[in-house]
Amino acid sequence: MRARCPICRKPTRSEQNADFPFCSERCRLIDLGRWASEEYVISEPLVEPNKSQPTAQTEPGKRKENRPRR
Ligand SMILES: [Zn+2]
Repeated sequence: MRARCPICRKPTRSEQNADFPFCSERCRLIDLGRWASEEYVISEPLVEPNKSQPTAQTEPGKRKENRPRR
């Protein structure tokens, strides 16, 4: 199967390339990095309300007082 690398537009072949549809590992990592950064931006507002609930109950100032002193 033949295609073009979505990153640099070089023609690539699936039977010769483990990184298909990318021409090389470098282009594959570039695309992976784009996905990772996009996912981070999208998932951030979804994660935030879940994280803020436990931190709202336990205040950082009280945490230190609850620790046993030795
Ligand atoms: Zn490429």
